[in-house]
Amino acid sequence: MLDVETLAKKWENSDPFVILQNAANLGLNWTLAMSFSREDTVILHWLSQIWQPVDAFWLDTNLLFPETYAFQDKLRVQYPVNLRRIQPSFSLKEQAQHYGQELWKQDPHQCCHLRKVEPLFEALKGYGGWITGIRREQSPTRAHTPIIEWDNRHELYKLNPLARWSTEEVQNYAEENHVLVNPLHGKGYPSFGCYPCTRPVKPGESIRAGRWEGWDKFECGIHQ
Ligand code: SF4
Repeated sequence: MLDVETLAKKWENSDPFVILQNAANLGLNWTLAMSFSREDTVILHWLSQIWQPVDAFWLDTNLLFPETYAFQDKLRVQYPVNLRRIQPSFSLKEQAQHYGQELWKQDPHQCCHLRKVEPLFEALKGYGGWITGIRREQSPTRAHTPIIEWDNRHELYKLNPLARWSTEEVQNYAEENHVLVNPLHGKGYPSFGCYPCTRPVKPGESIRAGRWEGWDKFECGIHQ
């Protein structure tokens, strides 16, 4: 077992690219979680310089924005990535039959559980660690995100190389290095997931204010 607390302290002020290089030397098989945000594509950009093809996955809830579906096709062309598409066990029709029409309007916790949380188990099966683009600045629920941690629920390591970076740092890096960026970011969505549960944010609102508006819900559940 790795001593993740010591590693997290050691890497706290390291450059995220160096963190990824060090993680690559740990002898684990890593996979990158892609939600197609700017953070994820910056990490993909780095990983493609470390190992090829990059192993990555996305949770296709069948309810993503058209821009996101189009964007993942572009990424496949631009980067050497084995992008695994993970789907829920229930189709939208089956979900409606079992749990009711438009479950996200009645019980978004249950909907996220079926379409994201459960499929993540499938996505991570057989891996030694997963890499995410979450950052402390994104929300109070992410404020204490360590650079590396043990994910008890899935029993593998979780690496969050951008944890301490600001939005500006990610934006600047992406611009200066011509990283492909999901067009949703330019349409007022600093954070996005499924279209029924995401709206653009207004000036002055927090990054994730457009997610699950009207609900006491701040995370889909895959990072809890
Ligand atoms: S974000 Fe909304 S639509 Fe997507 S899985 Fe969660 S509740 Fe369902």
